[in-house]
Amino acid sequence: MNDPLGLVNHILNKSFVDGPGNRAVIFMQGCNFRCLYCHNPYTIQYCNACGLCVETCPQHALTLGKDKIFWNEDICLECDECIRTCPSSSSPRTHSYTPEALWEQISHIGPFITGVSVSGGEPSLQVAFLAQFFQLVKENSTLTTLIETNGFAGPQAYTAMLPWLDMAMLDLKCSHPRKHEKLTGQPLDSVLESMRFFAAQGKLQQVQQVIVPGFTDSVEDMQRTAKLLAGVDPEIRLRLLRFRPHGANGPSAEWQSPTDEHMDTLVETARGCGLKEVERSL
Ligand code: SF4
Ligand code: SF4
Repeated sequence: MNDPLGLVNHILNKSFVDGPGNRAVIFMQGCNFRCLYCHNPYTIQYCNACGLCVETCPQHALTLGKDKIFWNEDICLECDECIRTCPSSSSPRTHSYTPEALWEQISHIGPFITGVSVSGGEPSLQVAFLAQFFQLVKENSTLTTLIETNGFAGPQAYTAMLPWLDMAMLDLKCSHPRKHEKLTGQPLDSVLESMRFFAAQGKLQQVQQVIVPGFTDSVEDMQRTAKLLAGVDPEIRLRLLRFRPHGANGPSAEWQSPTDEHMDTLVETARGCGLKEVERSL
């Protein structure tokens, strides 16, 4: 049987915000959420090689093959004209890797990092690939492995990678079922099942939530979220991320960012509901 291929949007060689320590971050292509405020909409859909963007590239960096687009990274200007042309706002600038090829690339920076985080898009859409990749990481290095996921795939999706997965960072978009569905396009139930699953496995490194106007920014919203998490385990680490309109998708680009004072109020609210470790972004 052939190795599964992983479709990667891009790789960051160094990050201090995607898990503990200094980490390489692999951003997978494809997402099963349609968040109203998505900052990376070009990671949602898969390119279907329709070829429309090939003609609009000012650098002639794109070529249409039989059923895929070839991208010449060396001459690309990163002008994003291809993404603007694409009817589904996808990106032709992705790379397909075998697990071995991705590990080969990451292993070159291995001495300079403490771990590998896989983000997206939504990495749980490519679990067969990631299970093999994480296995290679753990069998060939002392690097730690982390998946940053929305949890929607449910616990069964993560079981194949569990032996080689050290940590999970769960993006809890909203703890109110109806508002979660409005915000992401998907129901909340399986997200909470995944969170409880990772917590029970001792692998839930952090829950994070973007503070979005009208969805997660009221004191009542935070009380619901914090009580939910504290009911699972008061030791769960909650990180609150401030919504920023810059680069946000569609009408959400007009939404307001929460103030420092309000972010502090929400941190205190979460602590008051029993969570021991709550922090916020700047
Ligand atoms: S970003 Fe897209 S359109 Fe712009 S040069 Fe690169 S491949 Fe071409
Ligand atoms: S990125 Fe979009 S426009 Fe370009 S080939 Fe793929 S689907 Fe077509």
